[in-house]
Amino acid sequence: MMSGASESSAASAGVPVVRLGSGEGARYELDEAALRRVLLRSDARDLPAVVVSVAGAYRGGKSFILDFFLRYLTAPRSSQLSGEWLGKEDEQLKGFHWRGGAERDTTGIHLWPEPIITTLNNGEKVAVVLMDTQGTFDSESTIGQNSTIFALSTLISSVQIYNLTGNIKEDDLQHLQLFTEYGKLACDGEDKAFQTLLFLVRDWTCAYEHAHGYTGGAALLNKRLQSNPNQKPELREVREHIRSYFDSIKCFLMPHPGLAVENQNFAGCLRDLTEKFRLALLELVPSLFDPEHLRPKLINGERVHMQDLFDYFRKYVDVYNSDEAPEPTTIFKATADACLLAAARAASRVYAACMEESVGGTQSLSRRMLADAHAAARAAAERVYAEKKKLGSKRDVEARLQELIKELQASMSLYMLNNDVMVRETMILARQTYDTAVSA
Ligand code: GDP
Ligand code: MG
Repeated sequence: MMSGASESSAASAGVPVVRLGSGEGARYELDEAALRRVLLRSDARDLPAVVVSVAGAYRGGKSFILDFFLRYLTAPRSSQLSGEWLGKEDEQLKGFHWRGGAERDTTGIHLWPEPIITTLNNGEKVAVVLMDTQGTFDSESTIGQNSTIFALSTLISSVQIYNLTGNIKEDDLQHLQLFTEYGKLACDGEDKAFQTLLFLVRDWTCAYEHAHGYTGGAALLNKRLQSNPNQKPELREVREHIRSYFDSIKCFLMPHPGLAVENQNFAGCLRDLTEKFRLALLELVPSLFDPEHLRPKLINGERVHMQDLFDYFRKYVDVYNSDEAPEPTTIFKATADACLLAAARAASRVYAACMEESVGGTQSLSRRMLADAHAAARAAAERVYAEKKKLGSKRDVEARLQELIKELQASMSLYMLNNDVMVRETMILARQTYDTAVSA
């Protein structure tokens, strides 16, 4: 049922796809080739994407927990159900590099190199992409950059896991500010701008006050998201609006994994983790990845396929690299553009499928039949384009439609050409058969 991380890749690490360059006025570098290798793999490119991101400060245990996500995702269904997916007592924890140590990771986004193809309960296949978003989050000067990288990963993911240590602090909420603004633009009433935001609080020590897990998390979150008159106005606004822009906001309180993590030789073996930590993993991980809970990424209410995700990455990174600071309006425009591309691509897919069905065989057709097939396929494609929910101005929607029609016309010409060649070959063959018959 599951495929993906194989033996060999279990040893590999995350692939950096977005990196913050160095120096003054640094730009975000998108590694398109790397992104292409992950998102456009032939068995995954046409699947709806489920994108789970873990974002937060360096050395917060992000990669460590991502490796447990990988274990779950690559385990057979029976182990997922029995809890055996957690692993063996003496098995080293592998996948995304954890421990940091000497190589200090830079700000950026890493993806797991292989999307994990999983089947939803209704039998549909989806591709799960794991994303590791890292910032330093540790000084005033880096807050702008980190908000940016945090915003980028939130825009792209279906679940944003905000990894925090100890508690949900005032500064942590500050990173959500941009979203309240963007959310206002992107919400059209029916659809929320974003899906799930999960505050994952590590090393929660006040279990006597709020218990570990989702229940205690909900209580803490309620407290933190309450607004009061002493707060800065911006942060009060975040609190007042944030719930209306995310489909769901949750909080999970993780216990400390145990003193073994301080040991130099700690390899992430299960035997070194406390019982409480393991129980928390057993509650948390299936709640995110059980086929019943997986939610494909939606933008503007439409599913995002792996191929579309590629466009979103490009458009957003462009916004962040433009000379002006990213404004909710420019992000909105980028979303609208990528959304139109996705609608046009869905329409092209339908055109290709229709043509394949009517003229897919090797038989040559008359030009007339081919033209009819094209007209029907084009009409089906235009219907799909019209039905998809789109953002953006009427003019942009119309312009993209005209481009789509041009593209379909071009593929039609190609069909004609191929068909003419086939017709000619058939005629030559018939001629040869006739000649042989006559001369015999
Ligand atoms: P990242 O930089 O956020 O990806 O952090 P890593 O996953 O590389 O982990 C950094 C260090 O924290 C490692 O030495 C882990 O053993 C340790 N670690 C992992 N999870 C936890 C946790 O929940 N609490 C504590 N205190 N340490 C952890
Ligand atoms: Mg890491």
